Amino acid sequence: MALPPNAIKAGVTEKLVRDFQHALQDCLENGETFRTFLKSFDTIVKKHDWTYQGETEARAELIYNLNTFAFYDQRRHKQMTESMALELYPFWRYRCGPCIPPCNHDQWEGILLPTAHPWWSSHFPANNRYCHCHVEVISIGKMEREKLTVSPVPGEGLQTATDPLTGEVIRVPAGVEAGFEDSPAHPGKLKRILLLSLVLPLPAG
Ligand SMILES: [Zn+2]
Repeated sequence: MALPPNAIKAGVTEKLVRDFQHALQDCLENGETFRTFLKSFDTIVKKHDWTYQGETEARAELIYNLNTFAFYDQRRHKQMTESMALELYPFWRYRCGPCIPPCNHDQWEGILLPTAHPWWSSHFPANNRYCHCHVEVISIGKMEREKLTVSPVPGEGLQTATDPLTGEVIRVPAGVEAGFEDSPAHPGKLKRILLLSLVLPLPAG
C-alpha cells in the first residue's frame, strides 16, 4: 500500500513507519510503558528528522495509545471470531467505556446482535481516538438466563466526513470518527491506525 497523500504531506516515510512499527511491537511484547515508548519516539524522530504536528508528549501519547489499543482490539476480535467462539457465543453486546474524555458511544450501550450482523463491521471498537468501548460475548444460555433479546437493528445514520489520510470525502456511521470505521479484521487496519496516529491533528501547544 502506497502512503496516502496526507501522510506524505506530514513528512511520513515508509522507513519512519517501519521504525514506529518495531518500537510499538517491542512495547507490546515487553509490556513497556508509555515512558519507555517516549524514549523510542525521540530516537526515531531524530533519526528521520521528522517534524510532527503538536506537542511531543501529546503526539507520542496518541501514537502509543491508538496503536496499543488497536492491537488489543484486533487480538480480541480474532479470538471472538474463531469458529469455536462463534459457536459458543453467537451474540455480541456493545459495552461503552470507560473512555476519557467520554467517547459519546453510550447511544450504543447494550446493543445486542448476532455476531454476523453487518452493524459490527462498522461499529466494532475503537470508534474514535479516545474510545475504549468493548464488545462482550453472549451465549445462548446467558440469553435465556437473563432473558436478553436481540436489539432492533440500529439505523445506519451515515454522515459525510473527510478521510484524514486521503483527504477524500467518505461516508461513515454517525458517531464513528473518520478513519476508525473499518473492522479490526480489515486488512491493513493496524497500518491505517499507525498512519492516523502520525497524522491526526492535535491541539496546537
Ligand atoms: Zn467508544
